[in-house]
Amino acid sequence: MSELTDLYAEIARCTRCALSQSRVKTVPGEGAENADIMFIGEAPGFHENQQGRPFVGAAGKFLDELLASIDLRRQDVYICNVIKCRPPGNRDPLPEEIKACRPFLDRQIELIRPKIIVTLGRYSMARYFPNAKISQIHGRPRKMEGIIYYPMYHPAAALHQPRYRTDIERDMLKIPQLLAEIDRMADDERSPQAEQLSLF
Ligand code: URA
Repeated sequence: MSELTDLYAEIARCTRCALSQSRVKTVPGEGAENADIMFIGEAPGFHENQQGRPFVGAAGKFLDELLASIDLRRQDVYICNVIKCRPPGNRDPLPEEIKACRPFLDRQIELIRPKIIVTLGRYSMARYFPNAKISQIHGRPRKMEGIIYYPMYHPAAALHQPRYRTDIERDMLKIPQLLAEIDRMADDERSPQAEQLSLF
């Protein structure tokens, strides 16, 4: 068993908050254990709670389409959420639920060591950009301590609102360029004359 599967087992036993009483399944996350890109959503919904897998409902189908637009499949990336159990009626996660689940997400990031963390929606954005407005910062990468943080709208919001849809589609298309930039940056750091980056 990998450390990540150990972590999934720990999440499955978790009783740190009241969501453990109403969940059907925990939804730890899934994808490549060595993924370059990690997507962090909000919380499991109805279908995720039934299946124990992230983004398998309508928003997930749209996320799959967005990934396909940059020639990626789910298994090429890592997908998870800020909280691992479904809030009843799909209400917003509470601060204490986010706090209780935080060590699990911290550990996932440590184990996967992604080059790019894409935040989907306000709750995962708030982890890295606490007072920001998503309408102002979506699609704008920020590099901190060797990782690119890239805020995007949540696919569920974009699915129903055409103005967000255009933005999320456009923001997704920038990801390959970001990845190329970060790889080039790593090469430059190894070479004597480091160049200035165009995207940051
Ligand atoms: N919305 C999320 O934020 N996460 C899921 O897993 C599904 C829908």
